Amino acid sequence: MPADPPADERLTHPPWKTQVCRCLDKAEQAVARYYAIRPREWSTRFRYDLASAADHPDLHFPASALAQIVRIEPAPADQQRFRIVLRDEEILRLAEEFGLEAVLELTLAHELVHLVRFGQGLADFEQAGSAQQAEERRVQRIAAEALAAAEPAHAPHILEVARHLEASHRACQPPK
Ligand SMILES: [Zn+2]
Repeated sequence: MPADPPADERLTHPPWKTQVCRCLDKAEQAVARYYAIRPREWSTRFRYDLASAADHPDLHFPASALAQIVRIEPAPADQQRFRIVLRDEEILRLAEEFGLEAVLELTLAHELVHLVRFGQGLADFEQAGSAQQAEERRVQRIAAEALAAAEPAHAPHILEVARHLEASHRACQPPK
């Protein structure tokens, strides 16, 4: 087994940054296609940026979470702004088993689906309890379907990894 990455390693920095950008691009395209939104809406309507958990030491993550979505500008639904915070260590650990690309694409697509659903008023950021769990399952299913449809050659692997994540209940938002 390779050693765990040092606690301060960030997926948003080299050597992973390039691959993260490539996976983010694929995830954006897949989710945009699923929801029939224009690519430029990622910077106008569903605004977000990407950060590493190492840059947010005060953020609480559920034990199995791979990422978390943080609202940095609470505002009317069409003016909200979010930050996707990647849990570097957990993602890299899972990547040993399933490959970094599939884990990153699923994690990023999952968070982007949340963004679209918040922005379109299909889900509420403040949602809690069983409604949140149902939303998490829905979002995970949509993310996997969107990626599988966008990359048919990789669909079997994507769906297999998605099933594993589903089984291990990797919720991405903290319990309220
Ligand atoms: Zn989620």
